[in-house]
Amino acid sequence: MAFEEKRDYYEILGLSRDADRDALRRAYRQLARKYHPDVSKEADAEERFKEINEAYQVLNDEQLRAQYDRFGHAGINQQDMGGPGGFGGFAGFEDIFEDLFGFGMGRTGARQGPRRGADLRYDLEIDFEEAVFGCEEEIEISRQERCTHCGASGAEPGTSPTRCRECNGSGQVRRAQQSIFGSFVNVTTCPRCQGTGEVITTPCSKCHGSRRVQETRKIRVKVPPGVDDEMRIRLAGEGEHGLNGGPPGNLYVVLHVKPHQFFTRRENDILLNMNINVAQAALGDEIRVPTLDGDEKLTIPSGTQPGTVLRMRGKGAPRLRGSGRGDQVVILNVAIPTDLDAEQRELVRELGKTLGAEVTPQAGRGFLERFKEALGI
Ligand SMILES: [Zn+2]
Ligand SMILES: [Zn+2]
Repeated sequence: MAFEEKRDYYEILGLSRDADRDALRRAYRQLARKYHPDVSKEADAEERFKEINEAYQVLNDEQLRAQYDRFGHAGINQQDMGGPGGFGGFAGFEDIFEDLFGFGMGRTGARQGPRRGADLRYDLEIDFEEAVFGCEEEIEISRQERCTHCGASGAEPGTSPTRCRECNGSGQVRRAQQSIFGSFVNVTTCPRCQGTGEVITTPCSKCHGSRRVQETRKIRVKVPPGVDDEMRIRLAGEGEHGLNGGPPGNLYVVLHVKPHQFFTRRENDILLNMNINVAQAALGDEIRVPTLDGDEKLTIPSGTQPGTVLRMRGKGAPRLRGSGRGDQVVILNVAIPTDLDAEQRELVRELGKTLGAEVTPQAGRGFLERFKEALGI
């Protein structure tokens, strides 16, 4: 009983297993030319061509090639190769073809369909508080808009376009082209009229035939509460106008939040570093701290260590999605006095005597670890 084993893909293309993409493409191009069923004189051209095509599709795909290298043919699922037809149907062949041989199979360009306008970007600088509470800004942008003078026809009102002589109004030109597979007719978009079939003889005096004009517009931008640096707001349809009835692009407003003197943002929380003195840390105190809603009371417990983190619930930034606000996170730093006067020095010396001179290594987690834990970083 004859049992024909599937040939090795590398062997089919005459390549070593470490062949790079360039070598793969070169080999495929050469063999495809030799065995293309339309041109080949070989008896088994069609079979060979399928084989070559299959090998190329697998080895040209990084993932499939890796699977094939590890598991051989068993690693390649035929379903991966373009549906139920598998390799038989030359899946995606036209693309490979165009790619390798540099011309299409008689496709025509479609440059004259509706074209969407380009997106625009505007960089908007806002204050820290504006990002937290939201704001409304007026910005000025310059964009391409539909020319109203000519109704976006490109022709001066009162004149009309004439039929293109190059393509006789069809918008397409046909050219016979010689190739390795014989001659064929290549249909392309007419270069003179860009496929419209018409040529403007008297261009619009305002847009000079381009059908769009540059306009400056003022646009109000609503910045919602809770935004953060580098976020962008999309204003649908406020970009450049489209062509040939295409939709306009979008305007993207990219936010840049100015740094605050005291506060920094961490998502919805607002971080604030506060200096307290040694006595406040040791004995506890009630202090006033700035928040975005004005000064608020904060209780310092006695025995507060440097790096202690206190949370003021609901004093952070509003959540952009969802409700409520984040917290204000107060990081306490115990400031050691550096400019004591004579009386203060005496008092600290007295205190020192009662505390003794013993020093000990710290057990457990230190300042930095506790601090990170409290902030969840
Ligand atoms: Zn034409
Ligand atoms: Zn115009």
